[in-house]
Amino acid sequence: EITFDSCNQLVSQFEAVVKNPVRERSSVYYTGVDLGTACVVVAVLDENFRPVAGAYRYADVVRDGMVVDYIGAIRIVRELKAELEEKLDTELLYAAAAIPPGTDSLDGGAIKNVVQGAGFEITALLDEPTAANAVLKIQNGAVVDIGGGTTGISILKDGKVVYVADEPTGGTHFSLVVSGAYNLSFSEAELYKRKEENHKELLPVLKPVIEKVASIINRHIKGYDVDEIYLVGGTCCLAGIETIIEKQTGIHTRKPDNPMFVTPLGIAFSC
Ligand code: ATP
Repeated sequence: EITFDSCNQLVSQFEAVVKNPVRERSSVYYTGVDLGTACVVVAVLDENFRPVAGAYRYADVVRDGMVVDYIGAIRIVRELKAELEEKLDTELLYAAAAIPPGTDSLDGGAIKNVVQGAGFEITALLDEPTAANAVLKIQNGAVVDIGGGTTGISILKDGKVVYVADEPTGGTHFSLVVSGAYNLSFSEAELYKRKEENHKELLPVLKPVIEKVASIINRHIKGYDVDEIYLVGGTCCLAGIETIIEKQTGIHTRKPDNPMFVTPLGIAFSC
């Protein structure tokens, strides 16, 4: 059984450097750009693959893996790049990016163009589950990435991705449920949902939509011998989500301390 120790350590280092960047010189910097439906994250690692800086912004430039606001996406990545360059007092040249599985023929080019348009030389374009697994280091099991717009399911056998799928249900739908139940605007519901102190109260409200996600997982893993589910993606920050997914799938379900930054860090690792 894998432990999340190194993943948790990496993510907590990342959270710390988002607040206080490490300004020690490095001979090279590895940057990962994660263009998500809800959030754009940029993670920077040093020559020893230790997180040194990071920045993220909630934005509405990508939907279900498609870039819907090309100019806006370039602007945000450029701004985050400039912000990090100033903090680190260096120029960030190289970056890797990732795309949801199955969208490469549709939009891989657009994501690549955004990262290049923001001034990076792109060194790798990987699929999100492969990126996440650079940090998780799972040999066997299913990685379920519940993001903003979509849920990505990937099945690993002996460390290799053998099956991927991406379905349009994610945190956005959770926010819509909160919005309806509490009579809040979408953006108010989004903020309410992200506060940890509200999670206990929200869990029963969100149970049906979590069960929907679980049924999607069940549908995709059928026929594969999966005995462990690993949750990543911002939506899995919701306390207790793992319990409902475990119950509905009947499969032992685990998540790292902060599932939100696993993929962006994995992208930087693959730079
Ligand atoms: P996608 O993978 O669908 O393209 P993304 O990469 O933007 O989207 P993530 O950054 O992994 O997705 O997750 C964003 C989602 O996570 C949003 O719906 C956001 O509301 C939700 N989220 C972030 N933090 C929390 C939190 N603390 N509690 C609950 N949900 C959260």
